[in-house]
Amino acid sequence: MAAKVISGTEVAAQIREELKKEVAEMKEKHGVVPGLVTILVGKNPASVSYVTGKQKTAHELGFYSMQDDQPEDIPEADLLKLVDKYNKDPKIHGILVQLPLPKHINEKKVLSAIDPDKDVDCFHPVNVGRLMIGGSEARFLPCTPAGIQELIVRSGFETSGAEVVVVGRSNIVGKPIANMMLQKGRGANATVTVVHTGTKNLEAHCRRADILIVAAGVPHLVKPEWIKPGACVIDVGVNRVGEKMSEKTGRMVPILKGDVDFDAAKEIAGAITPVPGGVGPMTITMLMKNTVTSAKLAAGIR
Ligand code: NAD
Repeated sequence: MAAKVISGTEVAAQIREELKKEVAEMKEKHGVVPGLVTILVGKNPASVSYVTGKQKTAHELGFYSMQDDQPEDIPEADLLKLVDKYNKDPKIHGILVQLPLPKHINEKKVLSAIDPDKDVDCFHPVNVGRLMIGGSEARFLPCTPAGIQELIVRSGFETSGAEVVVVGRSNIVGKPIANMMLQKGRGANATVTVVHTGTKNLEAHCRRADILIVAAGVPHLVKPEWIKPGACVIDVGVNRVGEKMSEKTGRMVPILKGDVDFDAAKEIAGAITPVPGGVGPMTITMLMKNTVTSAKLAAGIR
């Protein structure tokens, strides 16, 4: 039987509706409006498109949101001052510095300058530490891993006691999602294995997975025979493998492939995310959720 396709587009829309209501209620009952600033250095087209998407969503949800564009050659010291200005601004609850930054700027230094309580991307070492401790210590969850966890929960898959295999050990996806899945609590309590470029016999590990999370950045790395029948497969990979003409706009658009061979895998898996339209739409949505959480915590709203 073909797998259930887990639509990130649908789940993200559902969560955004929930957030919209929450924001309206916060405004009405407490006079609190979540505030998000996105700082963009330079004009990298992919980064422009990412921050535009984040600003658009923030507006739709009723946030106070602003875009702060800075020139490519901004000195590091000036960028640090700018971050500090927003750290002190009570209307701002979330600060997002769009990556990558130009080479003359130390990314780690800038990310560490963000007030951890406004670090809605959850990249600050303090928040990474809080995530590791887990439970109520974790103020924010990193956006892509939080989106993955939410997709698993809302698709009805039992995580408690499940064998979870994560392919990839990046700081953005692999390590944090592995950490989140092994904590006690909702959408977790699993037995987690992380596999990577140093792993022997990747296939054998993947075949044991009740839940297989793939974030390797290698198109179609996971073959259908690596999947346990009935497993939940979350494909995080987004790989540009070429270009095609869009029938809608007549413009050239990238051809995207996941890390899993979707067409073949869906005949074996119990549930699977598509690429695009799986994990992707969840990432921005979880950023918005973190900003709402931050605003609530700042205002003492439970
Ligand atoms: P990364 O390159 O930082 O990490 C990839 C990891 O995969 C590494 O730890 C590496 O050890 C492992 N890996 C690579 N090739 C492997 C192989 N052949 N066998 C075993 N392990 C292997 O990448 P990342 O930032 O974690 O992103 C991974 C993928 O997810 C990329 O395609 C990226 O575009 C995508 N991504 C999507 C979203 C989203 O919102 N949808 C967000 C972040 C990343």
